[in-house]
Amino acid sequence: MIDYHIHTLLCNHAEGDIRSYVEAAVRAGLSEICFLEHFSLDTNSTAHAMHPNEVPLYVYAVQEMKRAYQDRITIRTGLEIDVSPEAIPALEHIIQTFDFDLIGGSIHFVDGVNIASRRHAAALSTPEFQSLCRRYVERVREMVETPFFDVVCHLDVIKKNGRPLPEDVQAGLLEIIDRMAEKNLALEVNTGGLTHPANACYPAKTLLAHAISLGIPLTTGSDAHTAQRVGAGLATAIETLQELGATHLAQFEKRRRTLVPIAPTP
Ligand SMILES: [Zn+2]
Ligand SMILES: [Zn+2]
Repeated sequence: MIDYHIHTLLCNHAEGDIRSYVEAAVRAGLSEICFLEHFSLDTNSTAHAMHPNEVPLYVYAVQEMKRAYQDRITIRTGLEIDVSPEAIPALEHIIQTFDFDLIGGSIHFVDGVNIASRRHAAALSTPEFQSLCRRYVERVREMVETPFFDVVCHLDVIKKNGRPLPEDVQAGLLEIIDRMAEKNLALEVNTGGLTHPANACYPAKTLLAHAISLGIPLTTGSDAHTAQRVGAGLATAIETLQELGATHLAQFEKRRRTLVPIAPTP
């Protein structure tokens, strides 16, 4: 199995040293992992991401793991970028400076609000939540138009706290998937949501089924912020994918994509 979404302590909200994540992946029998550390140039989210000055250290740390574990597991280097259109030139510069395998794009902040915050979500009235969802969809739409990433991470993470999404928001997400097909972007199946109140992978089955029908390449990731979470929920994700008729997963090396057959669940 492949886990293409693993964090490190550089993002300031994960625990454990990088080696413990790799060890956990080897123990879980994963064939391939990708570190996808948070990176952002948006002042709202920099506290939740590694500092630009830390990128060389991060890349070096992952390289060191690649070398040390090359006989046991394939390790990739990636970034999960909080895409803000005004930061595009600076983001492009960082991406081109290093040899990344995979760049993920995601939205965690909408108008300065952390959409993953449980406290914040609980305080919103239904109309306020729906308006937040609509603005989230607009930000994702904007992100998909930017030219420099490979995979959309946790597409419907706005459902994290278990509140139902309005119909027009669902429709907006389906349209985004149409656009992703045109832009040749991959979609991540993120198992983090299985442990959140949403109690489901990101994205939901309907969205996933639509993506599969359009032939959009898929990755799987645990969004692990602790070593114990590496590989968590992947078997469930694979089962869902197979049930929906997916046959392959996308693999990335130096941002070149290939397809590999989905491994049977153990
Ligand atoms: Zn995180
Ligand atoms: Zn994320």
